[in-house]
Amino acid sequence: MSDRGPHLVLLGKQGAGKGTQASRLAEHYGVIHLATGDVFRAAINEGTELGFEVQRYMDRGELVPDEIVIGVVREVLTNSDAVKRGFVLDGFPRTVPQAKELERVLADFPLDVVIDLDVPTEIALHRIAGRRVCVQCQTTYHVDNPPKEDWICDVCGSDVVQRDDDTEEAVMRRLELWEIQTLPLIHFYRRRGLLAHVDGIGDSEDVFESLVATVEVRMTEDA
Ligand code: ADP
Ligand code: ADP
Ligand code: ZN
Repeated sequence: MSDRGPHLVLLGKQGAGKGTQASRLAEHYGVIHLATGDVFRAAINEGTELGFEVQRYMDRGELVPDEIVIGVVREVLTNSDAVKRGFVLDGFPRTVPQAKELERVLADFPLDVVIDLDVPTEIALHRIAGRRVCVQCQTTYHVDNPPKEDWICDVCGSDVVQRDDDTEEAVMRRLELWEIQTLPLIHFYRRRGLLAHVDGIGDSEDVFESLVATVEVRMTEDA
């Protein structure tokens, strides 16, 4: 077994449970959870230049241009101990150019495994319709699984709300773009021998266990 945590990418359509599982995995392995969507939402919330730049794309469910997204990821991966300790990438890469750039950034410390977290679209849509997110720390809840106190985040005490881009229109556009831009990554990573599949249907706890089992197998093979 390697003495660092995994270099892991979670792929999966909107609502597959990437964010939910990526935070648990990051905590479990003591590694960084990098979710580009969370970075952009935080930037909008703080009113930074980056937030201003990305908001118009996000509101419409369009992808933020590759150069902007790559800039953010490069900064985090090169200015933190993410590569040394390990990381879980969630929502990045989402296009083939992003995946190629990630390979360049990681250079001699490549990915260990890319997991396709798969759920049927009907389930994903139900999950997104009920999704609620903390405005501050981005912890994700669901109307069927709310915080303990009336829409106040269990972790940080801030408001838990529906995302601005979880409208039917923006979600349909995101799912469409996922098929066009992100699905090709499944083939991209399969060709590199990095792809694994985990079924995202069912209890969050069971999905987490399958993910950990999959990571362990890959990390042992690599060691
Ligand atoms: P979802 O997976 O539901 O689309 P995210 O929180 O991952 O939600 O992303 C929200 C929005 O942020 C996306 O619709 C897109 O505008 C932008 N975004 C996040 N990650 C990327 C990325 N890797 N490439 C391009 N745009 C991104
Ligand atoms: P993604 O990051 O892939 O878009 P999220 O982690 O935000 O997905 O999950 C979407 C919604 O589904 C959230 O409201 C989350 O609480 C809920 N959810 C996540 N995993 C499960 C699961 N295994 N069963 C039921 N609901 C789930
Ligand atoms: Zn919070």
